[in-house]
Amino acid sequence: MNAPAAIAPDAPIFDAKAFRLTDAQSEIIARARNLGQSAFAARAAGYDRDARFPTENYRDLHRAGLLGIAIPKAHGGLGADYQTYALAAAEIGRYCGATALTWNMHVCSTLWSGPLADDLDMDAATRAEHERRRAIHYRRIVEDGAIYSQPFSEGGAAAAGGVAFGTEARPIEGGWRVSGKKIFASLSGHADYYGVLCTEVTEGEKASRRNTLYLAIPAQAEGVSVVGDWDPLGMRGTVSRTLIFKDVFVPEDAALMPRGVYFQAAMRWPHMFLTLSPTYMGLAQAAYDFTVRYLRGEVPGMPPVKRRMYPTKQIAVAQMHVKLEQIKALWFQAVTEACANPSKAQVLRAYAAQYSVMEGANELAALAIRTCGGQAMLKSLPLERIYRDSRCGSLMLPWTAELCLDRTGREALYEAGETDE
Ligand SMILES: Cc1cc2nc3c(=O)[nH]c(=O)nc-3n(C[C@H](O)[C@H](O)[C@H](O)COP(=O)(O)OP(=O)(O)OC[C@H]3O[C@@H](n4cnc5c(N)ncnc54)[C@H](O)[C@@H]3O)c2cc1C
Repeated sequence: MNAPAAIAPDAPIFDAKAFRLTDAQSEIIARARNLGQSAFAARAAGYDRDARFPTENYRDLHRAGLLGIAIPKAHGGLGADYQTYALAAAEIGRYCGATALTWNMHVCSTLWSGPLADDLDMDAATRAEHERRRAIHYRRIVEDGAIYSQPFSEGGAAAAGGVAFGTEARPIEGGWRVSGKKIFASLSGHADYYGVLCTEVTEGEKASRRNTLYLAIPAQAEGVSVVGDWDPLGMRGTVSRTLIFKDVFVPEDAALMPRGVYFQAAMRWPHMFLTLSPTYMGLAQAAYDFTVRYLRGEVPGMPPVKRRMYPTKQIAVAQMHVKLEQIKALWFQAVTEACANPSKAQVLRAYAAQYSVMEGANELAALAIRTCGGQAMLKSLPLERIYRDSRCGSLMLPWTAELCLDRTGREALYEAGETDE
C-alpha cells in the first residue's frame, strides 16, 4: 500500500532572502508555520463551529517553545524580537485566526514586559525589581506552560486610550485589592493569568491614566469570575467572555510592569498597539492562497475542476495580488521599524499599516468569495471562516480602523500642542 502523499509545505509569507531575515529568525517563523499547517489548520473548523478555545493548539505551542517566543534566551525562551514575533504570528494566522489572536494576547504579556520595557526609562532599583518579577512570569510560562491573557476593554473610552480604566486597584499591605469588569476578554476561562490594565487609586485621589497598572491576576484567585455567553460572528475560538473582579487580592509580584511604565510605553512605544495586526496579515494571505488553489482545482477534498482560464477570474486574482503585496510591503516596513520614540512619519505609517491590514484582509476575503463562486463558501472549506474572522480586525481597540483614520488626519494636520485658537 502506498503511503499517503505528504502535503507540500507552504512557502513563507515573507521570503527570508527577499526580506533579509536571519537564519535564526527564519527558524522561529518556520516553526510557527509548520505547526500551523500540520496541526492548527485541520482543527480550526471545530473551534470555530463550537466557539471553543484551542486548548490542543496551546499544548502544541508550549511543546514547540512558542509560548516563550519573546522571552529572552537567558530565561529559557526563544528570544524573538518584535519583528520576528510579528512574522511568526502572521504565519499562525494563516491557519487559525483565533489561535493567532489569542496567542498575541499571551505573547504581548512577555513582549511588553520584556524587550519593550527594556527600552523605557526606569531607575536602577525599579529595573532590578522588574527583572526579578518578570523572571517569575517567564518561569511559569516556559516551565509550566502557563497562559496569559490581556483583558483591557471595559465597553467605554478607556481601551481607546481616552480615559483612565474603570477597573480599580486599591493599594493594601503586600499588594492591591482589584475590582472591576472587563468585556471581550479573550481566553476567559482558559488563561491561567489575566493581564489586567487597571487604575491604581488612593483615597481622595482622582483616577488618572498615568496611574495605570498592568497586573497578572491568577484566574483561580478568590473574587474572579467569568460571566456571559460567547456566540459571535467570527474569531469564535477566542472565547472572549466577560470577567468580573470583586475585591480580588493581587500580590505585588503580579505587576507585569512597574508603576508608571505602562503609561510611558503607551506614549513612547506606540507600535505596542500594532500587535493585533499579524493575525490579520495571515488571514489576508490565507484568502489569496485559497483562491489560487481553488481556481487551479487543487483544494484537497474538492473535485479537480479548473476555473483559472476565465479572464474575469484572472483579473480578480491580479487585483488580489496587487492588494496583498501593498499590504505586505507597508506592514513589513511598519513592524520592522517598531521602536521607542518613533518619528511622526513612523507613527503615521504604523496607523496606515494597521488600517490597511485590518480592512484589507476582509476586502480580500470578500473578493475571494465572489471570485471562487458558490461552492467555495460552504462551511466545509476555510474561506467563509476567513471572511468572518477577518471582519473582526477593524473593531479592535485602541487602533480600530476608525480611530486610525481619526488619528492620522489629526496628527498629519496638527503638530503636538497646536490649536486653531
Ligand atoms: C474577537 C475579538 C477579541 C477581542 N479580544 C479582546 C481582548 O482579549 N482584550 C481586550 O481588551 N479587548 C478585546 N477585544 C475588544 C476590542 O478591542 C474592543 O474593545 C471591543 O470591540 C469593544 O467593543 P465596544 O463595542 O465597546 O467598542 P466601541 O464602541 O467601538 O468603542 C469603545 C469606545 O471607544 C471610543 N471610540 C470608539 N470609536 C470611536 C471613534 N470613531 N471616535 C471616538 N471615540 C471612539 C468610544 O468612547 C467608545 O465608547 C476583542 C474584540 C474582538 C472582536
